[in-house]
Amino acid sequence: MDGKFIPWKKAKVHILTHTLHYGGGAFEGIRFYETSKGPGIFRLKEHIDRLFYSASRLEMKVPYSKKQLTDATKKIVKINKLKSGYIRPLIYFGYGKMGLDPRGCPVNVSIAAWPWGAYLGDEPVETKISKFMRIHPSSTYADAKICGHYFNSILASLEIHRKGADEALLFDYNGYLAEGPGENVFIVKKGELITPPRGAILGGITRESIMEMAKNMNIPVKEKNISKRELLAADEAFFTGTAAEVSPIAKINGKKIGKKKEGPITLELKETFTKAIHGEIPKYRKWLTLV
Ligand code: PMP
Repeated sequence: MDGKFIPWKKAKVHILTHTLHYGGGAFEGIRFYETSKGPGIFRLKEHIDRLFYSASRLEMKVPYSKKQLTDATKKIVKINKLKSGYIRPLIYFGYGKMGLDPRGCPVNVSIAAWPWGAYLGDEPVETKISKFMRIHPSSTYADAKICGHYFNSILASLEIHRKGADEALLFDYNGYLAEGPGENVFIVKKGELITPPRGAILGGITRESIMEMAKNMNIPVKEKNISKRELLAADEAFFTGTAAEVSPIAKINGKKIGKKKEGPITLELKETFTKAIHGEIPKYRKWLTLV
């Protein structure tokens, strides 16, 4: 926290921390994995870049450089002696003043790390389409990872969990598929991989990685609007995300997707992704920062 390593139990903030009230903070979710050469942080540069992009949208004057936060992220993994897990950097408006314009508040930075297993479990997930629309890109910078955006995700998650499904699917202001509460979505139709274009979604780093992998595997990839009808008629569907990794979707609104538990293209991509994050594929080792 703010340049110091603090024991877990002492990592506290004041109750009048600005971001706690109004959600004006920028954060990241990063994973690191066990490799034969020790822990490897997946796409650290891209996550730090997105963190600074999100902070810039909030006009935050970040008191550290990208290099300093990159080094601190590596160090938090090292001193916690973790082999694999999750890292949560957060840049927030701290304690100083209330009122909506955050200028005048200190800009605080924290980075936490902890072990975290499969976010959506090991089985293909049952989804439902949420009644809540994904945040409108004219209401905010929808491509930034800003704390307050996640109230939209919280509402969709509460709704869908109450109805007994595992994860929500949110549609955008044009009525097309956007993403999950914390994941991007892909469908497979006639051997082609299709994912919603940028605009209303968070441009996921896992999404980019999967698209690059698919191209290298000669799987055609398209960024295209997906209607509800196309979604329900998909041969395969899966989520991607730092927490969720590659998670196959078994059902949407009670309708089974595909004939198998996990579709063949989903499975192939999931297996390649799993090898890549553990440093087992030379061409993707560029994505790992060894600690
Ligand atoms: N969409 C949302 C809303 C998210 O919170 C996340 C998680 N960061 C993603 C997509 C996936 O992004 P990434 O692959 O960069 O984790």
